[in-house]
Amino acid sequence: MPSSSSRFHDIVIIGAGAAGITVASQLRAQAPDLDILLIEPSATHHYQPGWTLVGGGLMPMEDTARPQRDCLPSGVIWLQDHVTELDPEQNQVVTAQGLQIRYGQLVVCPGLQINWDKIEGLTEALGRDNVASNYAPQGAPYTWECLQNFRGGQAIFTHPATPIKCGGAPQKIMYLADDVFRQKSGVGSRTRVSFYSAEGSLFGVPEYAQILEGVAERRQIETKFRHNLVALDGRRREAVFEQKTDQGMERVTVAYDFIHVAPPMGAPDFVAQSPLGKAGSGWLEVDPHTLQHLRYDNVFGLGDVAHLPTSKTAAAVRGQAPVVVQNLLALRRGEAPTARYDGYTCCPVITGYNSAVMAEFNYEKKPISSFYLNPTQERYSMWLAKRYLLPWLYWNRMLKGAPFEKEILDQWKARLFPDAAETASPLRSPSAP
Ligand SMILES: Cc1cc2nc3c(=O)[nH]c(=O)nc-3n(C[C@H](O)[C@H](O)[C@H](O)COP(=O)(O)OP(=O)(O)OC[C@H]3O[C@@H](n4cnc5c(N)ncnc54)[C@H](O)[C@@H]3O)c2cc1C
Repeated sequence: MPSSSSRFHDIVIIGAGAAGITVASQLRAQAPDLDILLIEPSATHHYQPGWTLVGGGLMPMEDTARPQRDCLPSGVIWLQDHVTELDPEQNQVVTAQGLQIRYGQLVVCPGLQINWDKIEGLTEALGRDNVASNYAPQGAPYTWECLQNFRGGQAIFTHPATPIKCGGAPQKIMYLADDVFRQKSGVGSRTRVSFYSAEGSLFGVPEYAQILEGVAERRQIETKFRHNLVALDGRRREAVFEQKTDQGMERVTVAYDFIHVAPPMGAPDFVAQSPLGKAGSGWLEVDPHTLQHLRYDNVFGLGDVAHLPTSKTAAAVRGQAPVVVQNLLALRRGEAPTARYDGYTCCPVITGYNSAVMAEFNYEKKPISSFYLNPTQERYSMWLAKRYLLPWLYWNRMLKGAPFEKEILDQWKARLFPDAAETASPLRSPSAP
C-alpha cells in the first residue's frame, strides 16, 4: 500500500460503501492531483439494495458483492483498517491498527450500525428456526430458503422504531413473500401475513402511504402500527412487541411460524461518541443542504450516517455526493460552499413479482419522478427498473463517479405531482414468476 505512513492526506474518506466510493470517484475525476486516502476495513463491496432481490429469489447473493479493490477508483489510496476515534480539533483520525492520520478535509460516510442486541433473543435466533432478516450480512439467502419451505401459518414482518436503511425494504420482502405463499398450493389459504411496525403508517409520504395501504388491503395483509419488536423467543416462536397506546406502553406477545425482522439501527458508536455526533441521537451533525459539519468546516458527511430528514438510501447518496464534492472543492479554492442537496431520495417499493412503486421524494415530502411518469402508481416498468436498471446504474455509473447531471436534478424539481393522491391506484393481480 502506498504511504499512509506519511500520516497526512489532503482528503480522508471514512468508509468505502456507496457514499465513499462515489465521492472518491467524483473527486478523482474533478481534481486528479488531490491526495485521497480511503479507510475501509472490508475486502468486499456489497450492493445492499440487491439483498431484497436475493431474499425474494430473484438474484444470487454473489451478484450483490464484488472485490473492494475492483470498485475503488484508481489513484485513491486504500487503507484496509477501520477508524476507531475522531479528533476534529486536531484534524486527525485514529484507526484500529493504531495509526494517527491527519487530514486537510474529512468525509465521514461509514454507514450506520445495526443494533441486533437491542432485541432480546434475536442474535441467538437469527438465521435459524424461521427467523430471517435481509439486513443481516449473508441473511437474505436464508429468507429465500424460509419462503420456499414455508408450509403456512402466521408470517410476521417487522419495522423498528429507529430510522433504517431504505424504509420500504421491510415491506418489499413482505409483498414478495405473500406472492410466494399464494402460488404454493394450499399455503396461501393457510397463511396470515402481518406487518408489525413501530411507525404510524406504511410510508412517510402520504401519497405513497395511500397506494401501499391499497396494496396491503388487496393482499389482506394485517397491519399493526405502533408495535415495536423488543424480544423474540426462537424456540417457542414468539415475538414480544411494545405497543404504544393512549394509556402508555403495553407488552403484546404474538406467536409466529415465520418472522422477518428489520432491526433497530443507529449511528456507529465511534461517530456517536465523538464531537461530530449529534447530542442525543449520535448521527453525524451536518447542514441538511450543504452537508458540511455544523461545527467543523473541513468535515463533510453523507450517506446513512448523516442526520438528514430524508430516507437513508443509495439513491439519496447519488444526490448527496456531487454536493459534497462541489462544496469540498469550493472550500479548497477559498470559496463558500454553495451547492445544495434538496433531500432527494428514492425507495423502489416492490409490491409483487411484477410491480413496484418508485417512491421518489425530497425534503418537502412530495412525490417527484425521474422517469416522466406519475410515481404514485404500481408499474411493471418500475419493477424492471428496480430489478435491472438500478443495479446496472449502481455498478457502472454511480460508483464510477458519473456526474449527477444538473438537468436531471432540475427535472426532478420541476416534476412535482400535487394531484397524485387522486390518481394513486394499485395494480391488479400481481404474480410470482
Ligand atoms: C435490505 C436492504 C435494502 C435496501 N434497498 C435499497 C433500495 O432499494 N434502494 C436504495 O437506494 N437503497 C437501498 N438500501 C440502502 C442502501 O444500501 C444504503 O442507504 C447505502 O448503502 C448507504 O451508503 P453508505 O455509503 O452511507 O453506507 P454503506 O454502503 O453501508 O457503506 C459504509 C461503509 O463504511 C465502512 N465502515 C463502517 N465502519 C467503518 C469504520 N469504523 N471505519 C472505516 N470504514 C467503516 C463499511 O465497511 C462500509 O463499507 C437498502 C439497504 C438494505 C440493507
